[in-house]
Amino acid sequence: MPIPAPDGSGGTRHAFRGHRWLGTPTETAICERGTPMARPSEMDWICFPTCRTCDETLKGEQP
Ligand SMILES: [Zn+2]
Repeated sequence: MPIPAPDGSGGTRHAFRGHRWLGTPTETAICERGTPMARPSEMDWICFPTCRTCDETLKGEQP
């Protein structure tokens, strides 16, 4: 599931490899964008759009 990450222009929901966030300050999303990680607020989940690149990459990997 794509999770909210602030990325300068407000924020986007990127998808990440792995089962869960291990507390590292930055992570590389599936779209290869490095994003600073922070605990997302409820508003972030509602307001941030889903990253199209992450979304389409995941969809393309499904059988
Ligand atoms: Zn992304």
